[in-house]
Amino acid sequence: MLFPVRCWTCGKVIGHLWNEYNERLQIAKVSNDNLENGLEPLFKELGLKRFCCHTMFLSHYETYEDAIKMGFPEDYSNMT
Ligand SMILES: [Zn+2]
Repeated sequence: MLFPVRCWTCGKVIGHLWNEYNERLQIAKVSNDNLENGLEPLFKELGLKRFCCHTMFLSHYETYEDAIKMGFPEDYSNMT
């Protein structure tokens, strides 16, 4: 599933922050010094104050990459 455009609870527009969140998270994991206080500083930098918005980022998983790995059936006529 793609990352939602808005938070499901409060309605804040958060879809544009997904790529930036991932990039900053990867940098923090590599440097291993920005995660001492958890992800709270990262969320503050992105302007996310509410826990409901934090949950959207923490619980999201990109399923489309797994679906692409499974591929598509070669013959669609057998599916009906
Ligand atoms: Zn929210």
